[in-house]
Amino acid sequence: MRERGEPETFTGSFTQQEPIPEAGIAAALNVLRHGRLHRYNTAEGEIAETALLEEEFAAFTGAKYCLAVASGGYALGCALRALGIGPGDRVLTNAFTLAPVPGAIAALGAEPVFVETTGALTIDMDDLAGKAPGAKALLLSHMRGHICDMDRLMAVCDKADLPVIEDCAHTMGAAWKGVPSGRHGVMGCYSTQTYKHMNSGEGGLIVSDDADLMAKAIILSGSYMLYPRHRAAPPPEAFEAVKYVTPNVSGRMDNLRAAILRPQLADLPRQCARWNALYRTVEAGLRSTPGLTLIDRPDGEQYVASSFQFLLPDWPEAKVRAVLARAAARGVELKWFGAKEPQGFTSRHDSWRYAKPQDLPRTDRILAGLVDMRLPLTFTTDDAALIARILREEVSTVHQGDVQAPVEMPQAD
Ligand SMILES: *Cc1c(COP(=O)(O)O)cnc(C)c1O
Repeated sequence: MRERGEPETFTGSFTQQEPIPEAGIAAALNVLRHGRLHRYNTAEGEIAETALLEEEFAAFTGAKYCLAVASGGYALGCALRALGIGPGDRVLTNAFTLAPVPGAIAALGAEPVFVETTGALTIDMDDLAGKAPGAKALLLSHMRGHICDMDRLMAVCDKADLPVIEDCAHTMGAAWKGVPSGRHGVMGCYSTQTYKHMNSGEGGLIVSDDADLMAKAIILSGSYMLYPRHRAAPPPEAFEAVKYVTPNVSGRMDNLRAAILRPQLADLPRQCARWNALYRTVEAGLRSTPGLTLIDRPDGEQYVASSFQFLLPDWPEAKVRAVLARAAARGVELKWFGAKEPQGFTSRHDSWRYAKPQDLPRTDRILAGLVDMRLPLTFTTDDAALIARILREEVSTVHQGDVQAPVEMPQAD
């Protein structure tokens, strides 16, 4: 029990997911018992779990076609390959994103070109327009679920003849003005890795309405000549032109993961609403905290906020570190995008040294004050309110006072 006057602390885990739903466990056991884990290993008349998942995810996003793959990072690389991106091609992407995004570009020998970030944590349209000439594609990352003005973005990219691949690792279930995230560009890529909106440990999904691109993606993923067993796939004719010339870069999903995912997909809208309830509770609790800026969410954005970001704009590094340390001491695990050394999942553009160094002063200024926090569904709204109280107190204390940061930061994973 907390003594009177003692500060409140939070004891939950920021990395603890919910269990896989019982229906997913039962479906997984069924796959394990029959042993046909490979997606093309089907009994007479059987439809593989993987093919069913693709069909259901296509319906969920309103896409004609869907392909399930081994990871979100694989989905990005596969989409870029399908688009014909190769060595030396300039591919634009957000300067504020996660390592698998520039990694997917660099892995093809292509050149990641970073576009500046706004205070809304989205891509800077003016910088995008300026960098578009000569670029082969935009790999648009809806980083931490923040969706830019997609109408404006598509207008800029259409004008520049720039195909858009969407990285929807953080926007599965989200939309812009009613159009699902991933349905604006030529291909949308999703991740089903444990920390995303559906959890199969590892996994990815690609959606598209483009028959030629999807036929290439299916061959790339390692379908051998078994593509007729897909359901959310283009007709056999679409494969004729590509099947001999598209290399196999195996990265299929298996039936075990698909079996785990299908019940989660059926429940996704409810889960999205739960994330947003946590988010809105934290947001309300932090509103008008001195020194802290909340991130604006535009009206057109139907977000799924599985994490929370706020800015400590232009704060000195020592004070930001003091907030992180004091919050950690009370059980609230924050990440900071301003740190010079990459830590855990958090890194920034100057750590991705496989890309040419680039001058991104506006992004650097934002990242220097950008604090990030997971909101796993194992938290209740009471937890979220407590977390907000703790953050409000610590940010205010550090903002007002002359608080020194400890030398060592606690290690976060
Ligand atoms: C997780 C993530 C990916 C890639 O997903 P993996 O399944 O881990 O390969 C891509 N982009 C962003 C922004 C991510 O957070």
